[in-house]
Amino acid sequence: MFISEVFRSKQGPVFSFEIFPPKREYPIETIYNTIEELVTLNPDFVSVTYGAAGGTKDRTVEIAGFIKNKWGKPPLAHLTCMGASEEAVLKILDDLASLGVKNILALRGDPPKEGPIHEGAFKYARDLVRFIKEEKPGAFCIGGAAYPEGHVEAPSMACDMLNLKKKVDEGVSFLITQLFFDNELFLSFRDVARSLGINIPITAGIMPVLNAKQISRMVSLCGASIPTALAHLIARYERDPEGLYEAGIEYAIKQIKGLIKEGADGIHLYTMNKPEVARRIMAEL
Ligand code: FAD
Repeated sequence: MFISEVFRSKQGPVFSFEIFPPKREYPIETIYNTIEELVTLNPDFVSVTYGAAGGTKDRTVEIAGFIKNKWGKPPLAHLTCMGASEEAVLKILDDLASLGVKNILALRGDPPKEGPIHEGAFKYARDLVRFIKEEKPGAFCIGGAAYPEGHVEAPSMACDMLNLKKKVDEGVSFLITQLFFDNELFLSFRDVARSLGINIPITAGIMPVLNAKQISRMVSLCGASIPTALAHLIARYERDPEGLYEAGIEYAIKQIKGLIKEGADGIHLYTMNKPEVARRIMAEL
């Protein structure tokens, strides 16, 4: 099923979970129990990241196929294009199609931390969107990434929004946002998107804060700002990791409830492969 149909047919927000493939040194089956637990929480779709932790790219296709064929849930396979050849992307599209995976989150990806950047056929995610549409017309429903605080490389928020509009116009059917901790940022981002004629569903990406190390890594990676309320919370539980874990889940629940109240099209939970966290959150909703 195309995820665009899920958005069209569901009353109320669409709930989705994001997982990442296990590292190379672990058998691929180590993720299957996690998926089983997540699926029992009845998400509308499950997304699988691409290339997380390096060298796991081929696992995305296999795991997405497993979600579809074992659990009958629509999987969303992430796919990055930076440094990739057209042939390599075509091979992945064929592999996904052969497993019945019909939804792709088309991404640019990031340059490798070490080593040279290989020139590929694609410069931006929009080039990948156009390529998929041209090479496999009608075969895939395509999602794109969006940044409520602007992408870290963009010279300005306005510039990033115009680039987002161009990407959407290539044939993106829904957007998933980068994680954010301040709902106001999401709401004003959504207003601007709508004013530019971006009228597709926009799903809000939520990552519960579970420990101090995780939050500082996330902030340095994606530039998400920390609102005062969350900063106070992190300070209050500085020497109490269990307290921070609990407070982080509470914060995420409050954030999600606020977004639902504001009519968010969807909530995309960055589960970090922790079904227990997803269960706690879904139980409250
Ligand atoms: P783009 O949309 O191409 O944008 C990248 C930058 O280029 C932006 O600054 C944009 O403003 C600019 N730009 C776009 N078009 C133009 C243009 N025509 N002219 C000039 N500038 C332009 N990474 C992974 O490696 N694997 C994953 O599985 C993964 N999953 C993700 C899931 C979500 C929901 C999100 C939000 C991000 C994910 N990422 C993932 C990270 C993503 O790859 C990076 O954020 C990357 O830096 C940008 O990808 P993009 O698709 O948003 O790029």
